[in-house]
Amino acid sequence: MQDGTSDASMITEAEHWRSRDLAVLWHPCTQMREHPDVLPLLPVERGEGAWLVGRDGRRYLDAISSWWTNLFGHAEPRIVAAIARQAGTLEHVILAGCSHAPAVELAERLLAIAPREAGREPLAKVFYADNGSAGVEVALKMAFHWFRNRGETRRTKFVALENGYHGETLGALAVGDIPLYRRVYAPLLAEALFAPSPDAYLCEPGESPAQRAERAAAALRELLERHPGEVCALILEPRVQCAGGMRMHHPLYLRRARELCDAHGVFLIADEIAVGFGRTGTLFACEQAPAADGAAGIQPDLLCLSKGLTGGALPLAAVLATQSIYDGFLDDSRERAFLHSHSYTGNPLACAAALATLDIFAADGVIERNRATATRMAGHAAALAGHPHVADVRQAGMIVAFELARNGDRRTPFDPAARLGLRAYRGALARGVLLRPLGDVLYWMPPYCVDDDALRLLADTTRAAIDHALAEAGCA
Ligand SMILES: *Cc1c(COP(=O)(O)O)cnc(C)c1O
Repeated sequence: MQDGTSDASMITEAEHWRSRDLAVLWHPCTQMREHPDVLPLLPVERGEGAWLVGRDGRRYLDAISSWWTNLFGHAEPRIVAAIARQAGTLEHVILAGCSHAPAVELAERLLAIAPREAGREPLAKVFYADNGSAGVEVALKMAFHWFRNRGETRRTKFVALENGYHGETLGALAVGDIPLYRRVYAPLLAEALFAPSPDAYLCEPGESPAQRAERAAAALRELLERHPGEVCALILEPRVQCAGGMRMHHPLYLRRARELCDAHGVFLIADEIAVGFGRTGTLFACEQAPAADGAAGIQPDLLCLSKGLTGGALPLAAVLATQSIYDGFLDDSRERAFLHSHSYTGNPLACAAALATLDIFAADGVIERNRATATRMAGHAAALAGHPHVADVRQAGMIVAFELARNGDRRTPFDPAARLGLRAYRGALARGVLLRPLGDVLYWMPPYCVDDDALRLLADTTRAAIDHALAEAGCA
């Protein structure tokens, strides 16, 4: 809220940082030409819990958890302390040929909490990388290389889902399907096979999300049948296609995808980089797949984790693999080994932050508390469902999304050129909330420590930002 009145000197201070920034920085995911006139630039001085404190002296609610990384609020003292402790002991060491306790302990603990399915060999080995895209590259390369080591050289293709997102590096982009990020680089990208998304927003009239999931699964089956022996892995984002507009699907699809991968001898890669660590109501989204033989949840063959892994404090990724995948690389030949590496693989500071994050999950009963917070979020979101231009309000645990369409009819989306999301972003920022809509989808993905006052502000601001955007664009 706008306590900490921005006096003139603080506005000058913010301006000062803005101009120094724009003189030297090239920002991610930004048409720099839009800074600062079309797109405001917010110089941040510090973070406190769910809030950011700007150089202008104002407080801003971080409603998107700083790109979905933050779990327990900014500057969480236990994570800060763990990093400081580790920094005084061992800040970094090469992980090829060397070992350190934080990397070992984190691997042990991740494997202990990873999704597990009765009768399936568990995830048994951890490979570290230092960001989500790199983790995706690791999983893709592992799947491909495993088959190659077995002499199955025809298995060179990946299947991915329409509207999916797995990162920006060329390998990750090749299995992504968001035109804005992908189209320009298409000539550089390995060809992937795309299966229809189970996205419940795309339900036909009268179709339930579960039916939609079955229909998407049938299409996946046909795709796999058309390419026998050619596919090494299916990669998907369980429960929520986040960058694709927080599109959510019925978890039945995960069960079907698991069955189809088994039937076709294809690895299942679960990209839980955004949805892992309690974001969708369970520790991992894979746990929500409905029961088969009495046991809920599916287990992927490769699991990609990043973002919330360190509570949002430091970059780190982990790829969990089964023993069989690991064993497929054991050989006298070095070429059959997985020679992938990053300089900062398994950085001790990041591992220490991740260990502190897991401690907090255990100490604070995070999953149970999130369930209560998610219920309160649903209450606040319900007030927006009646908005005449909101076509859909959807929720998966701590993620709530609002999709705008003309007259609330999903068959009549607004013209993208109206830039409603950008306008809503500006409107919300002026009111002290950092939203970052994805096209015409506004969403809440706050740090788990968000309280009821903040949620009320978030709901009021979201409504105001939508109305502001529609009025400014002349769409109201
Ligand atoms: C963010 C994200 C990635 C990429 O992670 P980066 O750390 O940004 O490279 C991959 N997959 C999913 C599902 C993501 O949301």
